[in-house]
Amino acid sequence: MSILEKDKKYIWHPLTQHKKKQEILPIKKAKGVFLYDENDKSYVDGISSWYTAVYGHCNDFIIEAVKTQMETLDQVVFTGFTHEPATKLAEALMEILPEGQQKVFFNDNGSTSTEIGIKMALQYHYNLGKDRKTMLAFEEGFHGDTFGAMSVSGLSVYNGAFEDHFIKVKRIPVPNGKNTDEILQKIKDIHKETPLAGFIYEPLVQGAAAMKMYDKKDLDQILRLCKSLDIVLVADEVMTGFGKTGSYFASNFMETKPDVMCLSKALTAGLLPMGATTCSQKIYDAFYDDEIAKGLFHGHTYTANPLACTTALAAIKLLISKSIQENIEKIIKSHQAFGLHIKTHAKVKSVRQQGVIFAFELDVEFSRYGNMRDKIYQFFMSEGVYLRPLGNTIYILAPYIIEEKELLKIYNSIEKLLNSDLLNSSD
Ligand SMILES: *Cc1c(COP(=O)(O)O)cnc(C)c1O
Repeated sequence: MSILEKDKKYIWHPLTQHKKKQEILPIKKAKGVFLYDENDKSYVDGISSWYTAVYGHCNDFIIEAVKTQMETLDQVVFTGFTHEPATKLAEALMEILPEGQQKVFFNDNGSTSTEIGIKMALQYHYNLGKDRKTMLAFEEGFHGDTFGAMSVSGLSVYNGAFEDHFIKVKRIPVPNGKNTDEILQKIKDIHKETPLAGFIYEPLVQGAAAMKMYDKKDLDQILRLCKSLDIVLVADEVMTGFGKTGSYFASNFMETKPDVMCLSKALTAGLLPMGATTCSQKIYDAFYDDEIAKGLFHGHTYTANPLACTTALAAIKLLISKSIQENIEKIIKSHQAFGLHIKTHAKVKSVRQQGVIFAFELDVEFSRYGNMRDKIYQFFMSEGVYLRPLGNTIYILAPYIIEEKELLKIYNSIEKLLNSDLLNSSD
């Protein structure tokens, strides 16, 4: 049986309706910015494999560190034990996280990191004896696929079967430059009726909502109000974390810092799965008590896996290195120039950028369940470029190690698309 035949026989893919016709491509290997298929055709990974492999695939520096760790300590229970990879990583995180973060709670992925962030917010008030059981979240936010994370996500289009079991959530619109006063009033009104426990938000860039970007000043006003009402600020930096927005964390752009931060994706550079939820001393103190039940009784078997911790520590060393920081600057400048260049194209509706995250909207009618998105995706793949359009938004979030010629390959494929007949064909 071929890979594809076995895949079809045994595998159930994520986010997939298997009855719908689709192409699933076996990938044989990856190195640097490239993915390679079975025929050795290469694809520039223009989205860093969902924002993870930002230092390039199969990074030698990270692999070396993990190899050594593998021969020393593979896995050990993290209740009652600790180890150097975890303590070193926690210390390294504290050096780069925004002011106020003090404790690290390790977990397995982005969804568990937000799930725990939500639990911290809810139990914080519970432990203090306050009746606050509702979370606040943005419309169109995305925070993961476990129950709590799914509940606070506004983009839960296909979650009909679970909605009756969601936690309580109130929603506010994303700031658009004009509605901030309205949003602030809405938060006050909601909080009066339904005391809010926490506010979970993707700072500055909403990834799954098609790289929707909004203003830091507007967000800062919302954060300031929430903080004054003791609504726990849970920054979901699973996507924005570790250098993507032009700072180590998007939260650095706001004056009001989060109480809790959710991290994953680039945390482990695409090598191993891991998440982390960090919090301030204030949050931690509300759980620190003679009463055992006031602790956070949450734990995953692979919590603080030594190999994952070693990976993350090596990744942070790369992040703060001069060469990565310089290349991030170069990418930001290249994207700015490319944005100016395509902005006036008849097929481009709008262009936006935050750090190395570049996105533009096609001025093309898409019928929601039409084939245009798939056609565009296949067009890029045939050009040897891996980009995943989100509706009519096309975005680039390439590895920080990308070189100019590979960036040009992405830009050229986009220009070729803009000038092709494909966009004129009916959907
Ligand atoms: C991807 C993502 C998640 C979920 O992470 P998983 O590892 O896929 O569970 C949560 N929040 C944001 C902002 C994300 O981009």
